[in-house]
This record gives sequence, C-alpha cells and structure tokens, in this order.
Amino acid sequence: MQTAKKIESQLSEFDIKKIRQDFPQVLQTKVHGKPLIYLDNAATTLKPKSVVEAIAKHYQFEASNIHRGVHFLSEHGTALCEQARERIQDFINADKSHEVIFTRGTTESINLVAQTYGRSFLKAGDEIIVSEMEHHSNIVPWQMLCAEVGCVLKVAPMNDAGELVFEEYKKLLNAKTKLVSMVYVSNALGTVNPIKEVIQAAKEFNAVVMVDGAQAVAHLPVDVQELDCDFFVFSAHKIFGPTGMGVLYGKEELLNKMPPWQGGGDMIDQVTFEKTTYNDLPHKFEAGTPHIAGIIGFAEAIKYVQGIGVTAIQKHEQMLLEYATDEISKIEGIRLIGTAKHKGAVLGFVMEGAHPSDIGTLIDMEGVAIRTGHHCAQPVMRHFGVSATARASFSLYNTKEDVNVFIAALKKIQKMF
Ligand code: PMP
Repeated sequence: MQTAKKIESQLSEFDIKKIRQDFPQVLQTKVHGKPLIYLDNAATTLKPKSVVEAIAKHYQFEASNIHRGVHFLSEHGTALCEQARERIQDFINADKSHEVIFTRGTTESINLVAQTYGRSFLKAGDEIIVSEMEHHSNIVPWQMLCAEVGCVLKVAPMNDAGELVFEEYKKLLNAKTKLVSMVYVSNALGTVNPIKEVIQAAKEFNAVVMVDGAQAVAHLPVDVQELDCDFFVFSAHKIFGPTGMGVLYGKEELLNKMPPWQGGGDMIDQVTFEKTTYNDLPHKFEAGTPHIAGIIGFAEAIKYVQGIGVTAIQKHEQMLLEYATDEISKIEGIRLIGTAKHKGAVLGFVMEGAHPSDIGTLIDMEGVAIRTGHHCAQPVMRHFGVSATARASFSLYNTKEDVNVFIAALKKIQKMF
C-alpha cells in the first residue's frame, strides 16, 4: 500500500496541473451541477487542445483531398498524412512506415486481417486461439472466418483473478494452430497479459500472432519489433485522438502476401475492365478517401503522448490504480472483478444488492462518469457469474482527488441500497 505522502510526491513529479490545462474545457465541465470526474477512459479518452486544434485547422484552413492533387493544399495534406504514418511508426517502433495501415479502428483492423489473411491462408481444420478475456471485436471476426472456411476457434482460459492460464494456453498450441489473436490489456478486467511469452510460444509452432493493443498503447510502452508480433492493432480514440481512426501494423512480408480488402480508389495501380493491378503498401489496404483530419489529429495525439512519455503516464496511472484499489477494498459489499497481479488502470467491480447500471446512473448524478455493462466482453462476465460490472478507468489527467470523489460517491450510493 502506498502512503499518501508518496502519492503526492509522485503527482507533483508528473505535473498533473499542467496536464489538466491541456484539456481545459472538458475538465471544467459540470455535470448535474457537479465538476465532471471522467473515469471512462477505457471507453474513450478525452482529447487535448492540441488535437482538437489540429483537426479544426485542417477543416478551417487546409481542407483538401490527398494523393490525387498537384495543388498546394493537396500536397500539403498528403505530406501531413505520411508524416503521421512515420510518427506512428516511430511510436510503436515499426521497422517501416508502410507497415502502418490506417483503418477506422481496432475493430476494422481485426476484420481486415480476418478477411484477407484469414480467408487466404486458413483452411478447414486449422486452429485459431484467442483468450477468454477478449473484447467481442477479437472474437466475432474469427467466428465469422471459421463459419466461412471451416477453421476452429480455441479459447485459452483465464483464472478467477482474470489472468491467462499460460499452461493451458500452451497446451492448445499444436501444428494445426495457424493464428493466435490475443488482447494485450483487457478492457473489462485490466489484466496485462504476458504478451511477449504468448507470442514466443506461438512462434514455436509457426503461428501468426495478432495483438489487440486497444487498451495498451496509451498505458504502456509498445515496441512491435521487440514483441515480434505479426500484427498489432489499436484505435486513435483510446489514446487521445479522434474516433473513426486506427491502425493495423503488420510485418511487411505478411502484408505483401495478403490480398487487398476493399476495392476502390488509391488501392490500385492500373485498372482496365479486363484486369486490375494493385498499389503497393500501405495504399493497397487504404481504399477510398481516408479520414484525413482524423489522421492529422491522430498524429497530434501521439505527439502529445510522446511529449509526456508513456512510462511516466504508466507510473501515474499505476499509482492511481493502487490507491483506488486500496480505497475501494475498504468498502464492504464490493467485489472487484479483475484482480490480476499485472493490471492496467481499470477497476471493475460489483456492489452487493445494486445493479451496475443503477450505480452508473446514480454516480453520474455526482458528476462521476464510469461505464457499466458487459464491456463488449460477455464471456468475461460469464466467467465471473455476473451479467454486468461497473468500471472506473483512469488516465493521465485523473487525480487522487478524482478517486476520493469516486469513492465517496460509491459510499453514498451504497447507503441508498
Ligand atoms: N479491443 C479492446 C481491448 C477494446 O477495449 C476495444 C474498445 N473498447 C476494442 C477492441 C474495439 O475498439 P474500437 O471500438 O475502437 O474498434
């Protein structure tokens, strides 16, 4: 347990005051007459001023379509989008910038891989492994693929702390395993999976590995080359960027082998009615006009995170998580859902006698935004024998005082039941 003094000193090192000024309007918002305490960061993060301004600047002064124009604004937009790609390459340490494909988000990235790599290289009887703690986005695309080509979905179990049972995962691996797709950090439980070991074990069977990094990139340092994953996917909106934007990172060799996904402008080389040839990476997978403002805002968000440093963010969030875990554990009648040894800044719980959605509604009246429901992870809920949980999730602008307000609100609510 951390002492209050230690917590305070870590906070000042982090300069939380300055960080909160980067989100000036929203962090001063009042909800039901109370100051907003935003603890729904696993759903989406707030956006710093610099990101909002970069997006507004594009629409106000620089709006144009990219790639196809020779005029100034078009060339400028094209350059910004390619610089954005390089920034993201740098952020996740991809070897080449064309290994970074822009998508609409994690969900689209996973579907892209399932529908291109999966359809082309998996066949009846091949096996795909996911874990029991996946988001629906990392379950359903594989089920759809299995229904189409006859491959089989295997599920690596978790224990009652919400940790992957590594030995059971290893037992599932065999010569038929062609693909492993696993979450790095669980959105419902906060569990940080031993993803490097997961990847290494899969590689012994030559399986291709995809990592769902939606809850990882904003909270811990990611190096795709060090991980040696084949695919890594995430969404901009969970890392201070705009919605409708995301990334599929893939190793060049694999991306080159994969057929294109959507057909249309930009993804082609030559089109005739007899035969069409396709563009090189990354454009092969980016049909149509991209979300240009989104790409620009995404790069600005990554720049913002790089300016603070993911390790510093991680340290701050871990301090908040520990403090919040200690405080909530003192409230009788609350059961934590997700007590893994290695956790990201997610605190899932249920309260005796109170439905999570009632907790969500009542705590909102106190100005505290949390999420309640199944968190798109119904198998996780099933494992713990609940239909829903309440979830507080922290980010770099949250403070110990936010946690105090949250805990006080929970105690108040508990008295109502
Ligand atoms: N995977 C995980 C672990 C997530 O937390 C989420 C979003 N909650 C997704 C996938 C899907 O992300 P998106 O809705 O941005 O595509």
